[in-house]
Amino acid sequence: MPHHTEDIRLLEELDKKHFLHPTSSIQQQQDEGPAFIFKEGRGIYLEDVKGNIVIDGMSSLWNVNVGHGREELGEVAKAQMTKLAYTSSFATFSNEPAIRLSAKLAELAPGDLCATFFTSGGSEANDTAYKLARHYWILKGEPERKKIISRTKSYHGVSMGATSATGLKPFRDFTSSLAPDFFHVDHHDPVALRDLIEAEGPETIAAFITEPVQGAGGVHIAQANYFKEVKAICDMYGILFITDEVITGFGRTGKWFGIEHNGITPDMMCFAKGVTSGYAQLGGVMLSKELHDDFKKLSTGPLLHGYTYSGHAMACAVALKNIELIEKENLVENAKLKGGGLVEGLHWLQENKKMVSKVRGLGLMAAIELSDENLKKVQIPISSSIVNEAAKRGLICRSVTFDGQDTIVLAPPLIIKKEEIEKVVLLLHDAIDVVERKK
Ligand code: PMP
Repeated sequence: MPHHTEDIRLLEELDKKHFLHPTSSIQQQQDEGPAFIFKEGRGIYLEDVKGNIVIDGMSSLWNVNVGHGREELGEVAKAQMTKLAYTSSFATFSNEPAIRLSAKLAELAPGDLCATFFTSGGSEANDTAYKLARHYWILKGEPERKKIISRTKSYHGVSMGATSATGLKPFRDFTSSLAPDFFHVDHHDPVALRDLIEAEGPETIAAFITEPVQGAGGVHIAQANYFKEVKAICDMYGILFITDEVITGFGRTGKWFGIEHNGITPDMMCFAKGVTSGYAQLGGVMLSKELHDDFKKLSTGPLLHGYTYSGHAMACAVALKNIELIEKENLVENAKLKGGGLVEGLHWLQENKKMVSKVRGLGLMAAIELSDENLKKVQIPISSSIVNEAAKRGLICRSVTFDGQDTIVLAPPLIIKKEEIEKVVLLLHDAIDVVERKK
């Protein structure tokens, strides 16, 4: 049932007056009001207050892996909230969901990653990783190892450290001062990493951080052997290798964790988003056994890092149930199978629409790149026009225009069915059609 027109108008006015939206154009919000005011979600679908039903082709922010409206997660949240919603994890105080989740993560994670530091999200997970890496080197007697290297086109979040690590320049240019000792290398050239390490001095580098598939930068998949080569370079210089699995974790790429496609194991792994499918705010960093053992051996004082919500009982209980759903419903396998179908569909689109110049995808994260000889004459990027048309027709996808790209990205929930994938591709086709004809 849609809301009454006056209620919708009131909500729009209140939104414009009081709600400062993340990563949004304030001007557009003031001119047009909020794009959608959602009120319900079921599976891959969202419904807004006007009664529009759309496919959540981005799993909202790449995170609603098990789909919307899952009763099981609501029930577990209620049970844990009414029993013990939250208590501190500082000073070795503990709680059962956090203990059980850390053990479950050790079972699922690649290599010998075995100990988890919990946060409330991905940016905090990344900042924690940088601080723990630097602290590790202090403990090891090499305090000059403090530089963090990340890749161009990377996105690691918006806290001060994570913004500084982010390779997408507009995010760094948004603010005037950044955290020191962050460096960026070309995103697909292992030689560039070696050259930078040599130029800066290997004894000054703490860690290298990378997404296994670069998400917000436009779904960029590294060439075969890229990760093997960069891992070998990190090992050669004794640099810690951190994988940022905030998007790629928990099945998104057709494996539990994205780095598993590359046959290497990280020293640290950051996660968030899919760990709870967005039903609660949770992230974390995992440490390898070697690092954990070193921390146990060398730490003397307290680990002076911690968030109020580190190890939040309700969030951890939701994560455990969410992981159970992913396992029970074979969603990792489904991401692999349906991801194959999605990429196939996008290739069909490429054959039929000449403005689609490239297709990329791994599991259920995919992108099409657009090129058009008239593109430079168009004021707004063509991907934005297509995304707007798709939304009108019932599909949410995202336009990525950083670094002169004109790309549309897709990352539907891992529960998606074959016929729904076909629907996504057809809706995108129709949206491109309309934009093509308008030119
Ligand atoms: N790392 C990656 C790879 C991400 O995609 C994101 C969020 N999109 C983050 C970190 C930041 O996570 P959060 O927004 O939860 O702070």
